Amino acid sequence: MAAEAVKVAVRCRPLSGREEARGCRAIVGVDSARARCLLRNPASPTEPPRQFFFDGAFSGEHSTEHIYNEIAYPLVEGITEGYNGTIFAYGQTGSGKSFTMQGVVDPSSQKGIISRAFEHIFESIQCAENAKFLLRASCLEIYNEDIRDLLGADTKQKLELKEHPEQGVYVKGLSLHAVHSVAQCEQLMDMGCRNRAVGFTLMNKDSSRSHSIFTVRMEICTVDERGQEHLRAAKLNLVDLAGSERQSRTGATGERLKEATKINLSLSALGNVISALVDGRCHIPYRDSKLTRLLQDSLGGNTRTLMVACVSPADDSYEESLSTLRYANRAK
Ligand code: ADP
Repeated sequence: MAAEAVKVAVRCRPLSGREEARGCRAIVGVDSARARCLLRNPASPTEPPRQFFFDGAFSGEHSTEHIYNEIAYPLVEGITEGYNGTIFAYGQTGSGKSFTMQGVVDPSSQKGIISRAFEHIFESIQCAENAKFLLRASCLEIYNEDIRDLLGADTKQKLELKEHPEQGVYVKGLSLHAVHSVAQCEQLMDMGCRNRAVGFTLMNKDSSRSHSIFTVRMEICTVDERGQEHLRAAKLNLVDLAGSERQSRTGATGERLKEATKINLSLSALGNVISALVDGRCHIPYRDSKLTRLLQDSLGGNTRTLMVACVSPADDSYEESLSTLRYANRAK
């Protein structure tokens, strides 16, 4: 179970129009059959490419539909069976995290992992016999280590992280919203996205500077042959991480630099937790950031985690792609 509990996949997007216009060359190779990613150093063309192995490796030819079926499907199926699960997208701004998680409407094969997960959950509910379900969604943001409810009455109010002896870590005052359809989940997700703090960096004008967690909690009540009720609960966390780019590349100073330091702190805390889980260590450093404390009951133990590391193929993103592949590889 431990080795199976964390899966890491890499997705390399096609060269963008902007990269092509700049005369960029592709330096990332994807070997899907061996779940391998190859990275060439543009400064040293004779050097053999570095190799990284994952649970899945996908290129611009692979749709999100394909990626979902290959790697996300079992995790979401697990939710309906009572296992908590978490899906992350990791990578620098512009690498394809939103494309992977939120996706696009057209073509439908590129619909995001989030909508697919909602559809998957509602389909299983409809197919289940002798079962009653209660689904509730919440959406929060972690910005500069402060937590805010993106679906709450006051989205500016800072919320506290608390610990309950039985229920574990929770956010005091976080609003929960009953959902009965995919459309309702999507509406809440859109509302959460709109309320999210967005900053401005040189990389991308709406680069996201915060982490957001959209959680679907599912309670399943089944009735056995003797008429006895059994209650099972599980939750799915869909995590949109802030861009992983380093400060130097983004030209951040002052407040922005402080913000970037905190972003890097939670991303490295998350990397440390995942690699400790993968290595089977006894001490898992959940307490090092709000992000990892919050996800404590959904990372490790009887839960499933999927990280999709996104990279650009362009030669001028070499340093960032190397750092993403190393981060993702360490999580393996
Ligand atoms: P991020 O969320 O990491 O900042 P985006 O998801 O916004 O990055 O992607 C940056 C740009 O690249 C967007 O215009 C997006 O449509 C495009 N893109 C990303 N991944 C792919 C892909 N696999 N195929 C085609 N276009 C992509």
